[in-house]
Amino acid sequence: MGSSNLLDGRPAPVAQIGQFCGCLMVVACSRCGKRNRLHIGRMIDRHRLDPSTRFHRLADRLRCATCGGEGQITGVEGWR
Ligand SMILES: [Zn+2]
Repeated sequence: MGSSNLLDGRPAPVAQIGQFCGCLMVVACSRCGKRNRLHIGRMIDRHRLDPSTRFHRLADRLRCATCGGEGQITGVEGWR
């Protein structure tokens, strides 16, 4: 199973994170492969992110909690 940063085509990588406050973002580490699920609304609150930030910009900031490797967004759960 490969990883993709295309979010399975939905939502688009250029979508604004504020539209997905109630969703979970699935992030896979590109180094150790660990997967984490992050609640998008909580992340916006905790890091005081601009809700108009786009997913592909957010991906640049993600780091694996285990090894510090770069995270890749592989999907969003709870999106409809
Ligand atoms: Zn890692």
